[in-house]
Amino acid sequence: MTKELLAEIADAQMVLVGIGKEMEETYKKMENDSFYSSLMAQAEKEEDAAAILQYLQCYYREKNPDSGKIDAYNRLADLLEGKNYFVVSLCTDDYIYSSKLDAGRIVTPCGGFRALQCHSECSTDQEPLVWDKQVTAQVMEEIRQCEGQLSKVDFPVCAECCSIMYFNRIDTPGYKEEGYLPQWEKYTKWLQGTLNRKLCILELGAGMEYPTVIRFPFEKVAYFNQKARFYRVHSRLYQMTAELKEKGVSIQANPEEFLKN
Ligand SMILES: [Zn+2]
Repeated sequence: MTKELLAEIADAQMVLVGIGKEMEETYKKMENDSFYSSLMAQAEKEEDAAAILQYLQCYYREKNPDSGKIDAYNRLADLLEGKNYFVVSLCTDDYIYSSKLDAGRIVTPCGGFRALQCHSECSTDQEPLVWDKQVTAQVMEEIRQCEGQLSKVDFPVCAECCSIMYFNRIDTPGYKEEGYLPQWEKYTKWLQGTLNRKLCILELGAGMEYPTVIRFPFEKVAYFNQKARFYRVHSRLYQMTAELKEKGVSIQANPEEFLKN
């Protein structure tokens, strides 16, 4: 199976990769860590609790990055080296941007920790997104030095409504899609160029969360491209549709483990 996939990728003119929620950070370990659980309990008493939780998650992933996931992305980068590829990922943990994969060939439509925004009820449309890494870095440093006291952390606030800024992430009320749209435009153009090309599609852990982003459109692309091969890797939802029986291969596996083997 793996040999066949390697040969398909080597032979393909273009490679389309979809990464789903099975690859995403769960932050489960935060709850069992007294440093985080205490800060989260303090956050719950605040009006902007949901925003503060995002900063705590951001801090957690900086301090405890899941090296297994980053390794898996680096394996994928090795597989795709020199190929004309594009990656669509539903993950919001940004681990993919810490890997060797080319950020110019990645789109993350659910956002992540790279930009800040205000929430839906804010009237400002002046500067909808803040891409300043220094702002986030400053908060991370204050969390590091807060000695378990949330009140010691100064979170960035919106100049218009004074509430704490959220990250530009899909769970933010009034998620601003501008954050990923330029890259999405690049992706759709790239996708148009796959027609009549030898295309290898690799779907990793994309189940039924936002199926209109990866799962359904990938099936459609595979269906209409006569030269496509479609590899679907998922621990539970690995089944291929009847129309794609000839072109598709179902692999029941955890995508992270699959990439590492
Ligand atoms: Zn605001």
